[in-house]
Amino acid sequence: MDKQRNVAVLPGDGIGPEITEEGVKVMKQTGEQFGYRFHLDFGLVGGSAVDRLKTPLPEETLRICREADAILLGAVGGPAWDRNPPPLRPEKALLGLRKELGLYANLRPAKLFPGLAQSSTLKEEVLKGVDLLVVRELTGGIYFGEKHTEETKAGAKATDTLVYHEHEIERIVRRAFEWARERGKKVTSVDKANILESSRLWRKVAGRVAGDYPDVKLEHMLVDNCAMQIIRRPAEFDVIVTENMFGDILSDEAAILTGSIGMLPSASIGEGNRGLYEPVHGSAPDIAGQGVANPVATILSVAMMFRHSFQDDEAARAIEEAVTRVLDRGARTMDVAAPGHLALSTEEFGDRVVEEL
Ligand code: ATP
Ligand code: MG
Repeated sequence: MDKQRNVAVLPGDGIGPEITEEGVKVMKQTGEQFGYRFHLDFGLVGGSAVDRLKTPLPEETLRICREADAILLGAVGGPAWDRNPPPLRPEKALLGLRKELGLYANLRPAKLFPGLAQSSTLKEEVLKGVDLLVVRELTGGIYFGEKHTEETKAGAKATDTLVYHEHEIERIVRRAFEWARERGKKVTSVDKANILESSRLWRKVAGRVAGDYPDVKLEHMLVDNCAMQIIRRPAEFDVIVTENMFGDILSDEAAILTGSIGMLPSASIGEGNRGLYEPVHGSAPDIAGQGVANPVATILSVAMMFRHSFQDDEAARAIEEAVTRVLDRGARTMDVAAPGHLALSTEEFGDRVVEEL
């Protein structure tokens, strides 16, 4: 099998370059072990692209992303660009990339790493065994429906429209079932079918797709109940699949289950195997340039890259297990270090993971 892969690397702003460097290091080491040949293309994105090229998403960056098998992104944004006019906001780059590359599914796994339960706000008994994946629809729903505000006699009136087409629901639910097959074999489809017409369609399509996956259990859950169950009995979830706005809220809720934002990876996927991988956290301008950021979210995003874009579960697991072992030995960056314990730098932590590999 030819294991030549093109990867676009977009370090971005703030701590982006620091954490991306560790991600690339781990990617190269894993590649060496599992027989990959990587071609890396580095591109400007976000505020650093605005500064150099007067656009958050330069054409050249888009080109290398289109030609890539996978994209690794650090983070974009920061106070330096907060007052830019909308076309020159760093965050514009993310929306542009999703749209241009047709990335319609956002994946956020939340898993409890041993020894980190104390950095969560929930009790350890509740968190025991948490290993879930939130799959959020990313390019449809109320965020993209028709919207307008008008003046009426009774005052202003604002409208947002929530539209879903059957094919948009089907493709993401199908992906969720595929992933559930590789995991805990359960899909929780989340909607508000007692109120919303689009949710009734969602539920119907999910039920039909489930027929093709007799080995995976499907449960339907109303979004309000799901929001409650995620903090009440999170270990009972496997794959949660839901529409754009519900997913926005639930994925943030699920993300904080396991502690520091510095630990959480994400992937955005479209048709085929290409995907964009990035930490859940932002550019953390308050700690940028100090070499203290936690690189785990980025390193685990690289694991997701191997799993989804390269279809290599073994390599993905090797990375995840290396991170687990490093944490098991008590190594911590500042954000998750117990008081009085010595914290490792971003680079030292990355080196430990490479050694474990
Ligand atoms: P955005 O709008 O891009 O989400 P934000 O300021 O809301 O940015 P983050 O940039 O994620 O959110 O930062 C939130 C807090 O978490 C900050 O105090 C930051 O220092 C901290 N933080 C974020 N990522 C990391 C990391 N990898 N390691 C350590 N601390 C982090
Ligand atoms: Mg934020």
